Amino acid sequence: MRILLQFPEGLKQYALEYATKLEKEGNEVFISASPTFGACDLAIDEAKHIGADKLVHFGHAEFHHVDFNVEYVEYHVDAQLNVLEKSLPLLKGFKKICIMTTIQHVHQLNDIKLFFENNGKEVTFNKPNGFAKKEGQILGCDVGNVMSLDKNVDAFVYFGGGMFHPVGALLQTTKPFLAIDPFQNRAEFIDQLRDKYKKKSRGKVMSALNSKRFGILVSTKNGQFNMQIAKLLKNRIETHGLKAAILVSNTFDFESINNMMEFDAFVNTACPRIATEDNERLRKPLLSPNELIESLKIREELKEATKAK
Ligand code: SF4
Repeated sequence: MRILLQFPEGLKQYALEYATKLEKEGNEVFISASPTFGACDLAIDEAKHIGADKLVHFGHAEFHHVDFNVEYVEYHVDAQLNVLEKSLPLLKGFKKICIMTTIQHVHQLNDIKLFFENNGKEVTFNKPNGFAKKEGQILGCDVGNVMSLDKNVDAFVYFGGGMFHPVGALLQTTKPFLAIDPFQNRAEFIDQLRDKYKKKSRGKVMSALNSKRFGILVSTKNGQFNMQIAKLLKNRIETHGLKAAILVSNTFDFESINNMMEFDAFVNTACPRIATEDNERLRKPLLSPNELIESLKIREELKEATKAK
């Protein structure tokens, strides 16, 4: 069988080892060298181009259905759980907690739940209702039903490395949010980031108020392709007498976008986290669709107020 292997950045170091194993089993094996951001980013075009029978995608669970033979190989990490002890004094006074993690640690959730139950907590997991497929699992762009749990729990708890994943959930909730990082052996509340992100978002909305020409980003990655939304946004912008163009790329290179100096602002329809995490890499404001709508609304209100004077 001809196979294309695809690894996310953090796991590319294991590609050769895995390719050698599959070759020994009689397969013809190729390795994708493209950057890979998630299971939204399957290298199907590359696989088809080289006539592969199968794409083996490492590190992520299935994101959405695609019309190609894809095998997902999840990557599980057994993180040390003794860091949980550090969270107990912080969670004193919070009885009902919702715990979430990434696919790397979903298999550890029951042990984590047991630990907290043995320490007097009532534990729930968020339920999948989108791209994330497992109970307690979150993605950067999908935090399951955490928003609807906001009124039922006293605090949210994220277990895993880094801030990319917990911030996605933090911004959809209002209750205290504890991030437990087993790799840094650290537990800390990250609620102060809510304000930081809200201020950043408000700043983008306001700085786009005088923009006349908008570039709408559409990614051709199979799980990020949102042409319909892009067309709706283009239409919306044009009904305000402004100009808009749809900009298409597989992976957006921020230097190339910075070279498109005719545009006053950009709107992101690709991975939603680009607008929250990467906006500072652009010289012009990079808005989410909601931020664009908000900016157009304020623009209209200001126009009306000026007319009324
Ligand atoms: S957060 Fe972005 S990169 Fe990650 S799975 Fe979602 S769309 Fe893909």
